Amino acid sequence: MFEKILIANRGEIALRIQRACRVMGIKTVAVYSEADSEAKYVKLADESVCIGPAPVAQSYLNIPAIISSAEVTDAEAIHPGYGFLSENADFAERVEKSGFVFIGPRPETIRLMGDKVSAKNAMIAAGVPCVPGSEGALPEDIDAIRKVVKEIGYPVIIKAAGGGGGRGMRVVHTEAALPNAVIMTRNEAQAAFGNPVVYAEKYLENPRHIEFQLLIDEHGNAVHLGERDCSLQRRHQKILEEAPAPGISEELRNKIGERCAEACRKIKYRGVGTFEFLFENNEFYFIEMNTRLQVEHPVTESVTGIDLVQAQINVAAGKKLLYTQQDIAFKGHAIECRINAEDAYKLTPSAGRITQYHAPGGPGVRVDSHVYHNYMVPPYYDSMIGKIIAYGDTREQAIARMRIALSEMVVQGIKTNIPLHLDLLADATFLSGQFSIHYLEHKLALHNQQVEQAG
Ligand code: ADP
Repeated sequence: MFEKILIANRGEIALRIQRACRVMGIKTVAVYSEADSEAKYVKLADESVCIGPAPVAQSYLNIPAIISSAEVTDAEAIHPGYGFLSENADFAERVEKSGFVFIGPRPETIRLMGDKVSAKNAMIAAGVPCVPGSEGALPEDIDAIRKVVKEIGYPVIIKAAGGGGGRGMRVVHTEAALPNAVIMTRNEAQAAFGNPVVYAEKYLENPRHIEFQLLIDEHGNAVHLGERDCSLQRRHQKILEEAPAPGISEELRNKIGERCAEACRKIKYRGVGTFEFLFENNEFYFIEMNTRLQVEHPVTESVTGIDLVQAQINVAAGKKLLYTQQDIAFKGHAIECRINAEDAYKLTPSAGRITQYHAPGGPGVRVDSHVYHNYMVPPYYDSMIGKIIAYGDTREQAIARMRIALSEMVVQGIKTNIPLHLDLLADATFLSGQFSIHYLEHKLALHNQQVEQAG
């Protein structure tokens, strides 16, 4: 096992990884920007290195600074967390070439799955159901494009092969709008991702977002840890996730989960990974794979009893999985609410000092957060200040526990989205378990309209 791991991230996930390391008796190195020098997890780390000023390009994305921090502290492995460099194949390659273990998949796997066209082709070859669409990249010639899209059938979504973070896609409803949409998406893709390749997919009108968690070792053992429903999104960002996804049968879970596991064996995947699907009319359609730990991993940990970060570190150290698919049992229900420093309905960020802070507790309540009384939320980074995960024997019990937890939680000095979560947990559509990826946006628009009319 490793003796020392460098954690190339910040915030709650840096603390989460640090906790797993400490439980395993592994020493930790925190790297931090000047804006995070007072963070508690930085003080709790065995060693810490300042890697640059607040802006991410100079600190958390600063590859030479991170590698040299690993060198000077004698760390053996680097955990990238999520976001930042976690899905950067060049970073993974630099880490390995410098003699460290990258806690994640091989660089070539990250590259394969980072290009959505090659990812989709690999999944089709592995028998994973995909959204119907163009076979690979769209051709150059506009008549040829028209022909391809006509076969798929309108509406379609034009997507950038190199896209990410909800950017680089455009929905097209008519043939007349097609040429312009392709040109605009290509230009945007070139500017944002340095890759003009675009492809077309059938646009699903009212799908749910359901994703599968996979765990794979270096020895070809792959298990699926079930699914999560992450349909509640605004601006393509998730805010509330749950496991299991309401209404998914055990049979369907095992069928799709096993396909994903088989695909992982085929592409020689290693570590943790997530297969994202759109789900409509009881069918799953693969859209992309995330080759890293996800923000919402704790709901899966709650219903399987598996510590995913420990498992990830074990696999990176070359160990065999401790369990087969038969050993994995799903029990109960878990919900995660992401607590963001932002106006609950207008979504404007709200950085600043937290003047009062009380975290909730009680049976089935887990709080993953790096903040505390008097903590200064810096304006430079993602607005998430923590996550509450509520577990129960049933979905109803998990919801009831989450409501109490949110009502106990006190965060003063900044705005948070706790009111929105409380609103959602009392919403009839949410309670029914039947909501598509558009539901939250629709709810927010309705709320803002009502406020405008009243005021
Ligand atoms: P990104 O990597 O930018 O997150 P994804 O491929 O995961 O891109 O898609 C992001 C979101 O865009 C999905 O969660 C869904 O809301 C929407 N989307 C993507 N593809 C389709 C599709 N074929 N039909 C309908 N919505 C889609």
